[in-house]
Amino acid sequence: MVSTGMDEMRCYAGQPAPVIAMDGPAGSGKSTAARRVAAELGLRYLDTGAMYRALTWWLLCRSVDLSDTAAVLARISEPRICVGTDPAAPQVTVDGQDVAAVIRTREVSNSVSAVAAIPEVRRMLIGMQRGIIAAAVAAGVGIVAEGRDIGTVVAPDAVVKVFLTASENVRAERRTADLTADQAATVDTTRREQAARDRRDAAQMVMADDAVEIDTSGLPPDDVVRRVVEIARARQVVPHG
Ligand code: C5P
Repeated sequence: MVSTGMDEMRCYAGQPAPVIAMDGPAGSGKSTAARRVAAELGLRYLDTGAMYRALTWWLLCRSVDLSDTAAVLARISEPRICVGTDPAAPQVTVDGQDVAAVIRTREVSNSVSAVAAIPEVRRMLIGMQRGIIAAAVAAGVGIVAEGRDIGTVVAPDAVVKVFLTASENVRAERRTADLTADQAATVDTTRREQAARDRRDAAQMVMADDAVEIDTSGLPPDDVVRRVVEIARARQVVPHG
């Protein structure tokens, strides 16, 4: 599902096409910002969390006990998970089915960390993620990849790394506002669920030493995008203008 059209080829003055790593917890604003940064700079976009969610959704649909690592591992290579890299319309499919909406339910959000904590799952999905990133670089286009461990594990050589944070309250408010009517929850419930997910994700969510931390609590999305684009331009890794 990764287009490698030569028409996208850009010139980076002898440097490899850029990889921008954007990490941070749920509700830090990284998905919105990462998509917009990619669109603004003409880069591809990769949502790594969507891959963990897609696998978790598929396992839940088959009633696999997520606390039973052997049962999970017995099935992880069955679903064909594909993610698109167009920031204007990032697609996620499992066995050809569009799962972009169903992977955002609270059930998936509250279950995904258990799956993501399994080392073999991470190896498999990180391998796919590196392949997608390498294809974007080989095509001369570059990519913005967002997740928890992009700057530390998936793409430690990324030329720009940012780590977005926000206060617990702001994150919970944003997440609650994003929930569809059938998934509605109070801000308090979201805060509790988010705190539990943060604890389970703590091992993967490490800020790289060379990442720039941006607290988005009081920042409108436009300002977050502007800051990241400025950092990228200051490193001279993206075409100006
Ligand atoms: O970013 P998002 O909230 O959609 O990620 C869903 C989950 O996927 C996270 O809570 C985490 O458990 C897992 N994840 C991960 N590593 C990544 C991206 C997401 O472990 N790079």
